[in-house]
Amino acid sequence: MSADRDDRNDHDDPLLEIDGLAAAYGETRVLEDVSLSVSRGEVASLIGRNGAGKTTTLRCVLGSLQPIGGQITYAGTDVTNLSSTETARLGIALVPEDRRIFPGLTVRENLALAGYGGSDEASRWTIEEVLSVFESLADREGSRGAQLSGGEQQMLAIARALVAGADLLLLDEPTEGLAPYVVRRVEELITDLNDADVTILLVEQNVRVALDVADRHHVLDRGRVVYEGSTTDLDADESVLDRHLGVGI
Ligand code: ATP
Repeated sequence: MSADRDDRNDHDDPLLEIDGLAAAYGETRVLEDVSLSVSRGEVASLIGRNGAGKTTTLRCVLGSLQPIGGQITYAGTDVTNLSSTETARLGIALVPEDRRIFPGLTVRENLALAGYGGSDEASRWTIEEVLSVFESLADREGSRGAQLSGGEQQMLAIARALVAGADLLLLDEPTEGLAPYVVRRVEELITDLNDADVTILLVEQNVRVALDVADRHHVLDRGRVVYEGSTTDLDADESVLDRHLGVGI
């Protein structure tokens, strides 16, 4: 990670702000106090141990789980209590761990379907624009979802979000289960998308991936954001990861 990636984003222009978020499943509180912000054009990471509450945070931002406390602001609008249909219309997209593409439809059909619904904004990518960035999908545009490799399925899930008009991509463990060389390709894709001004909140179990592609990192521990810093900050203070994640860099 070069220092200029850290420096090139405008931290005074937040696209997403989460303040004091609390959430529960029934009686079980999972999020106690999650506060973080993601600037326009940045890749930010949310890292933490299994069960720390990373996916739950993304679900609250999307609106598929209603928070019990705190506030979520997106592009200056309070979205705390909106549904996932409403947040999609505003340009928020979650790419879940299980990818959820249509296995019986071709790559092109999957992309075409994503063009219905989603955001009303002009930020939608056309299928041709997406295929020009996702070269491995372009090579397989006639293949069915079920015939794609895990990495290609992940790319298709991200591509669908862009065709649907996502301004903010919430990526939930995009490298989960992928071979190391495919992880590298997903990392390159995230960097390419960031160069195309897509804002990304990346949840990763793989801290190395988060450090490679994100500008700023938030460490979640037992439902609280306990640390926020740049890659340079984390490199300078390795004890943070050891303390909260049980891993070294
Ligand atoms: P992982 O990487 O393991 O998915 P995570 O940090 O994303 O971890 P969450 O999936 O947000 O963690 O889960 C936080 C806690 O909430 C865990 O203890 C999990 O068991 C619990 N949990 C998650 N989903 C539900 C649910 N639908 N009902 C009840 N409890 C849940």
